Amino acid sequence: MTTTDVKDKQAAYRDELVKQGLLIPTGVDGLYGRSGVFEDVIERFDALITVWGRGDGAEVMRFPPALNRRAFEQSEYLKSFPHLAGTIHSFAGDERAHRTLLRRLEEGQDWTEDQVATDVVMTPAACYPVYPTVAARGPLPGEGRLIDVFSYCFRHEPSLDPARMQLFRMREYIRIGTPDQVMEFRELWIERGRDLIASLGLPVGIDVANDPFFGRAGKMLSSSQRDQKLKFELLIPITSEESPTACLSFNYHQEHFGHLWDIRTADGEVAHTACVGFGMERVALALFRHHGFDPATWPAPVRAVLWG
Ligand code: ATP
Ligand code: ZN
Ligand code: MG
Repeated sequence: MTTTDVKDKQAAYRDELVKQGLLIPTGVDGLYGRSGVFEDVIERFDALITVWGRGDGAEVMRFPPALNRRAFEQSEYLKSFPHLAGTIHSFAGDERAHRTLLRRLEEGQDWTEDQVATDVVMTPAACYPVYPTVAARGPLPGEGRLIDVFSYCFRHEPSLDPARMQLFRMREYIRIGTPDQVMEFRELWIERGRDLIASLGLPVGIDVANDPFFGRAGKMLSSSQRDQKLKFELLIPITSEESPTACLSFNYHQEHFGHLWDIRTADGEVAHTACVGFGMERVALALFRHHGFDPATWPAPVRAVLWG
C-alpha cells in the first residue's frame, strides 16, 4: 500500500468514528471530543487496569496535564523530542500591546508573536511529573517505589489517524529501584498486559520498538534502544492489519531518569526506572474496531470483563 492509501484508510476510519458519534471533531487533526459511550469504555478500562495492578501497592498520584517548565527543561525532553513538545504561552503585555494584538487579530495577521512562555509546559508522557517528585523525597526505601499515574498528554503529531491524537490519555505504572526490581516489574507487566488485552477478546502482538528521536543523532539513539530491547510495544490492529497500533508500551530507561534527577536507591546507587503505559484512547478504539461501535452488542465475555 502507498502512503496515500494508508492515509485515505485512516481518514475514512476517522470519519466513520465521527459519523458514529464516538469522536467529536474540532477541525484540528488529532484534537477530538469524546462521546459518553466512548468515555464509559475508557472509564471501565481504567478500572480494569486498577484491578490487574491491585495488590502491588502502587502509590496513586494524579497531576494536571502540565509540567513545571524548569522540570521539563531538566528532563532533556527537548534534546530527544523537540518536534513533539508543546509549551504554553500567554499574553503579558500592557494596554498598548493589547491594542496591537486586537488589531492583528482583526487584520488576520499573526497575533502570537508577542505571546510569552509561561512556567507551564504540556505533559508529553504521564510519568514525567513523577521523577522530580520522587527525587525530592530523598533516597528510595529498600523496596523502591511503585507509582500509578493517569494524565492527558500532549504531543504535536497532527495526523489523520484517529489513533494518533495530539491530546490523549495515558495510564502508567512506574517502577523506581534497583535494576533487578525494575526488570522484574517490566517482565511482569509484559505478561499481564498481554493477558489483560486477550481478556478483552482483542488480538495481540508484541514487538521491540523505538521512540521517534529527533534528527540524525536520533537515528543512532533509536537503533541503540532497539538493540538493547529497551522498549516493547503491545500491538493491536486498528486502522490497518499490516501495521498494527501500539496500544501499551513497556519502557526500561536504565539509569536515564535516575541520573537526571539524582534518584538514589537505599544503597546509594543511581536508581533505574521503567514504566508500563496504557494508551487509553487506543485501547478504546481497538475495542470499537474489533467488537463494533455499540458496546451493548459486544461479546458477553468482553462485556463481563469490563462491566462486571
Ligand atoms: P507510537 O510509536 O505509535 O508513536 P509511542 O512509542 O510514541 O507510540 P509511548 O511514548 O510509549 O508511545 O506512549 C505510551 C502509550 O501512549 C502508547 O503505547 C500508546 O498507546 C499511547 N500513545 C502514544 N502516542 C499517542 C498518540 N499520539 N495518540 C494516542 N495514543 C498515543
Ligand atoms: Zn512513562
Ligand atoms: Mg509516538
